[in-house]
Amino acid sequence: MVIHPSLLSRLKDQTLVVEAAKVGTEWQSWAQDGSRFDVTNPATGEVLASLPALGPIEARRAVEAAKRAQKAWAKRTGKDRASVLKRWHQLWLENLDDLAVILTSEQGKPLTEARGEVLYGASYLEWFAEEAKRIYGDIIPAHAENLRILVMKQPVGVVGAITPWNFPNAMIARKVAPALAVGCAMVAKPAAETPLSMLALAMLADRAGIPDGLFSVITARSGSEFGKEMTSNPDVAKITFTGSTEVGRILMRQGAEQIKKLGLELGGNAPFIVFDDADIDAAIDGAMAAKFRNAGQTCVCANRIYVQSAVYDAFLEKLSARVSTLKVGNGIDQGITIGPLINAASIDKVQDHIADALAHGARIVTGGDTSPLGPLFLNPTVVADVTSAMKVAREETFGPLAPVFRFETVDEVIAMANDTEFGLSGYFYARDMARIIKVAEALEVGIVGVNTGLISTEVAPFGGVKQSGLGREGSQYGVEDYLEIKYVCLGGQEA
Ligand code: ADP
Repeated sequence: MVIHPSLLSRLKDQTLVVEAAKVGTEWQSWAQDGSRFDVTNPATGEVLASLPALGPIEARRAVEAAKRAQKAWAKRTGKDRASVLKRWHQLWLENLDDLAVILTSEQGKPLTEARGEVLYGASYLEWFAEEAKRIYGDIIPAHAENLRILVMKQPVGVVGAITPWNFPNAMIARKVAPALAVGCAMVAKPAAETPLSMLALAMLADRAGIPDGLFSVITARSGSEFGKEMTSNPDVAKITFTGSTEVGRILMRQGAEQIKKLGLELGGNAPFIVFDDADIDAAIDGAMAAKFRNAGQTCVCANRIYVQSAVYDAFLEKLSARVSTLKVGNGIDQGITIGPLINAASIDKVQDHIADALAHGARIVTGGDTSPLGPLFLNPTVVADVTSAMKVAREETFGPLAPVFRFETVDEVIAMANDTEFGLSGYFYARDMARIIKVAEALEVGIVGVNTGLISTEVAPFGGVKQSGLGREGSQYGVEDYLEIKYVCLGGQEA
């Protein structure tokens, strides 16, 4: 139970790493049965810290505290809630360096990306703090002379949140910021691989004056007990989840009994299409960002790269040249652009996708081998001549593998792009305006990047169609997920 010196020595404020969970109003460092789990650095294998493996008892206690805190919080004015959230936002920014070091240490992404993520997370807090003052209802012209009709927007209440390991800061930011802004409380569970980032944020929440009990962080070895408690506890009004489609499905099934409201950000299988009229250099920049950020471990990752015949060879050559400039290593070191993958199962999946593609006639252009740096490092890889028959076409790879497909016509590529049960994001590069509109309309996704590989921002609605999820995070639409609409019919009014 000692925080590893490799982490502590890099922090300006060592109290930001805690080996305890925030359960309601208290920080709790022990589970009742004494069980704990380790958080390791994927780059080095070092055990960074050990946390209490909590269960339904603590989750329930947190919900009780959240219920009490939420009532008082919702009564406060929007301006008042906004000012508390802005203080929290300010503390995120003041602790940017430390939050980034914690993130890289537990998650592996390069430090510059970790800083980017912390700033991105903070942007949600700022945006929704501002929005706290603008939760407007409506007055609807009534259907009779002696009636008046009001529409109120009210917070749903206590929200359970479950987040993944690939964005330990931003994924909770996108949930807790709108929830608290509109007057909800939140009980959250981070992924067991990366709980330290969320705990550091909870520590800053205390310092910012977020009322006790309003934001709990329950550390647990697995998500299933927490998920069961959230879906079966009648005091939890809604569950917001980011993670795999599989677990989303489990939560939906479990929540059916109480018709639990759900916000789901699930898996993706993003097409990235390069048409023959595209600016190829811009498309390469976009592909690098959309494919290799976080070593390919993002749900909006370009999973399938389709290139039109006339520009196929040129694109492939430029892509492999750029990929070979990527620098693999420990994300904490200067100049590293690709960190380790999160665990051995992730490495196995990427290798399986490469082997399957090769067995079915694809060829390696760059990479394809493991890295001598350690068991969780993989050299970024480009595979060409990929077809729809291969696993990479159907499954989310979640790693630094760029599979390149050749196509001939617009209609053919639209059909291939949509041939998946997922529908989170899609990208394409083209110049012809009619083509741009046609393809943007035809892609069955929630987010389209046209001539850009980076689409995430707090001011736009993020979310998927088909089996990629329900609801939207970010923007004015992002508050709707945490609000109920109440219609009030006022009778006996003057005609
Ligand atoms: P990944 O495969 O990327 O780890 P998961 O969907 O398995 O994605 O995990 C995302 C989050 O969901 C993590 O916090 C994990 O602990 C949690 N989780 C996993 N299984 C369940 C479950 N059965 N119920 C609720 N949460 C779960």
